[in-house]
Amino acid sequence: MKYCSTFLARFNRHGIKVILVFGLVLFGCADKRPVDRMSDSELRAYADTLAHRYLVTDGHVDLPFRLKVKNFRIEREYMGIPIDSGEGDFDYVRARKGGLDAPFMSIYIPASYQQLPDMGRVLADSMINMVQGIAAHLPDKFALANSTEEMQQNFKAGKISLPMGMENGAPVGNDLANVKYFYDRGIRYITLTHSKDNQICDSSGDTTRTWGGLSPFGRQVVAEMNRLGIMVDISHVDDSTFYQVMKLTQVPCIASHSSCRSFAPNVRRDMTDDMIRALGKNGGVMMINFYTAFLSGDVWRHNRQVDSLLRANGLSSSDSTAKSLIAEFRKTHPKPLTDAQTVANHIDRAVSLAGIDHVGLGSDYDGVDGGENLPDGLKDVSQYPNLIYELLKRGYSESDIEKICSGNLIRVWKQAEEYARNAH
Ligand SMILES: [Zn+2]
Repeated sequence: MKYCSTFLARFNRHGIKVILVFGLVLFGCADKRPVDRMSDSELRAYADTLAHRYLVTDGHVDLPFRLKVKNFRIEREYMGIPIDSGEGDFDYVRARKGGLDAPFMSIYIPASYQQLPDMGRVLADSMINMVQGIAAHLPDKFALANSTEEMQQNFKAGKISLPMGMENGAPVGNDLANVKYFYDRGIRYITLTHSKDNQICDSSGDTTRTWGGLSPFGRQVVAEMNRLGIMVDISHVDDSTFYQVMKLTQVPCIASHSSCRSFAPNVRRDMTDDMIRALGKNGGVMMINFYTAFLSGDVWRHNRQVDSLLRANGLSSSDSTAKSLIAEFRKTHPKPLTDAQTVANHIDRAVSLAGIDHVGLGSDYDGVDGGENLPDGLKDVSQYPNLIYELLKRGYSESDIEKICSGNLIRVWKQAEEYARNAH
C-alpha cells in the first residue's frame, strides 16, 4: 500500500485523484507483488517452500545407468550405503532436500547396443529390474509410477515416484510387439534414438541420414506408442525426425531433456526456435537439460578446445596427467561460468516461443559426469529451489512454477493415457 499512496500523492497534485483511484480499483496494479517485498533470504525460503509444496518431476535422471556401471547390487546398495551415498547427482536424501518427487528413471541403452538388439533388451530389462528392486526394497521411500494417478498418489503419500523412460528404442528391435512388452514392464516414454541413427529414426548425433527422418518401421513404432500410451520423446532425434513425428503423432510429445539451440548454435542435440514453437503447437512439453555444454555455446567451444588439447597430447580425460594439462590450459582459458540464471534463460526463451504451458525440467542428472558439467547452484537434485528462486525473481507466478515443475508434464502424460484408453 505504501507504493499506492506515493502514486496517490503524486497524482493528487495534478487533480486527477478520481481517475487514479478508479485505475487502481480496476487494475490493482500499483502495489508490488509479494515477492518483490521479500528480502533475498525470504525469497529463497519461499522458493524452497514451493519446491516442497508442489509435485516436482524431472524428465531425465540417469541413476539406473550410473548404478549399472558400478555393478549395482541391491543387497549391497541398500544395506546402508546409498540412501545418502553422496555419489553421483541423485540419492534419496538430496532428492528430499530439493523437493524432487518424480524423477523419470532413464533406461539408457548406449548406441553400441544397436548392433546387438537382443543385448539391448537384456540391458533394458536389467535396469528396469533394478528400478523395480529399489521400489520393492524401500517401499516407505520409493514407489513405481506407471500412471499419472499413481504418481500423484505417491506424492500425497510422501514417496518419491520412479516412473521409467527408455532412452533409445533399440531394444524394440524389429518387432512391434516389443513396444507392448516394454509398456507392460512400465516404460512410459521412449526416446526414439540416442547418439546414432537406429532402426526407428535418424539421430542428431549422426550425419549418415539413414532414413531422412523416421524409418518405415519407426512410423509404426510412433503409432503403436500413441496407441498404448507411451509418450514419444524427441530428445536426441535429428530435426527431420522431429518434424515427421510432429506430423504423425496423435497426441502431444515430450522432449525429456533438451535445451534451446539459440544459446548453443553448434549443438544439434538442442532444439531450434522453430522446433520449440512446433512442440508448443503440438501441445507437448520441452524439459530443459542442465548440461552446461548444451546450455552455452561458449562452454561447448571450451570443451572442444580441451578435447583437442588432450588428443594432441595422446591423452584421454581419464588419464591422470590430463587433469594438470587441463588446469594449465584453464589458467589462460577459464571455463565459462553457468548457473541457475543460465537455465532460467533457456526457460524464458522456451516460454516466449512455446508458452508457459509447454516447458518443464529434464536435468540429465547422473548422465553428464556431474561436477563441472552442471551449472553452479544446480549441481545435484538437492538444488531445484535455486532455480525456482531465479524464476520467482523474474516474475514467474506460483502457478507458472507449478506448471514448469510438473503440471505441464502431467497434462501431456494424461493426454497420452486418455488417447490410449480410447484407442483400439
Ligand atoms: Zn540423453
